Amino acid sequence: MIDVTLIGTGGMVPLPDRFLASCLIEYNGKSILIDCGEGTQISLRKGKLSMSKIDTILITHCHADHISGLPGLLLTIGNNGRTEPLNIIAPRGSAKIINSLLIVCGYLPYEVRISELHDTKPVEFEQIGLKITSIPLNHHINCVGYSMELLLKSHFQPDKAEKLNIPVKFWRTLHNGNNVTVDNKTITPDMVLGEPRKTVKISYVTDTRPVKNINDIVKKSDLFICEGMYGDDTQYDNAVKKMHMIFSEAANIALEAEVKELWLTHFSPSMINPEDYINFAQNIFPDTYIGHDLMKKTIKN
Ligand SMILES: [Zn+2]
Ligand SMILES: [Zn+2]
Repeated sequence: MIDVTLIGTGGMVPLPDRFLASCLIEYNGKSILIDCGEGTQISLRKGKLSMSKIDTILITHCHADHISGLPGLLLTIGNNGRTEPLNIIAPRGSAKIINSLLIVCGYLPYEVRISELHDTKPVEFEQIGLKITSIPLNHHINCVGYSMELLLKSHFQPDKAEKLNIPVKFWRTLHNGNNVTVDNKTITPDMVLGEPRKTVKISYVTDTRPVKNINDIVKKSDLFICEGMYGDDTQYDNAVKKMHMIFSEAANIALEAEVKELWLTHFSPSMINPEDYINFAQNIFPDTYIGHDLMKKTIKN
């Protein structure tokens, strides 16, 4: 079971009722924050969401609307008593910029571990029990999206193990996906494990033109959160120039990638009521929803 909350849904500048685009993923008592623009910690507080449980911050790119809230948030997390290390994962070239921001924090009572991702190749890694794949995007600077899946081990089947006379001391090794040798015979995990379990997949993509990487990696997501900087199709040229998307482009990706549900986010401050343009997306992909701050969904596996 994963909880997903949109912390903010604005692009470029925060508005009184629309903080900058950010998202919190909560799983198993821990959480991952995606992006941290100005005001992110205020929205987290408004939603009564724990900052102390944030173990990892995934950064899409180093434009101010996605990172300028980092020093304040990290200081608050420090004031809350954190001593365990916190990971910040961001595209290539980000560490220098993020380290510069951290100078204004002064002393933090915990270690901040910054790592950089490849900007043209997807990278797979694991955080808080989730398998995460980065999605190289096409924006003014190095930018990545993220796709997250629950890592669920198939159930161990004792009856199969007993039939094969496998001693109990080997069961855990097999359940963890490793081979064992019994009476000179190799036993592989598939011989004693059940069917693969249904996972949950959530994908997050902002600040990009449509690129093939997105369709490939977000394929069959239970929830696809995607930028929709502009609603109206007449804004196409503007979207191309600013390297963003219009609603219908996000909806086309959702349709082609066969996702279950699309949430739009990262709206231009010039778009006062994004709901006015929802038809541009729903005509293509009916299960589209306009994101709003603190919109939340629990996805069960
Ligand atoms: Zn942005
Ligand atoms: Zn940007």
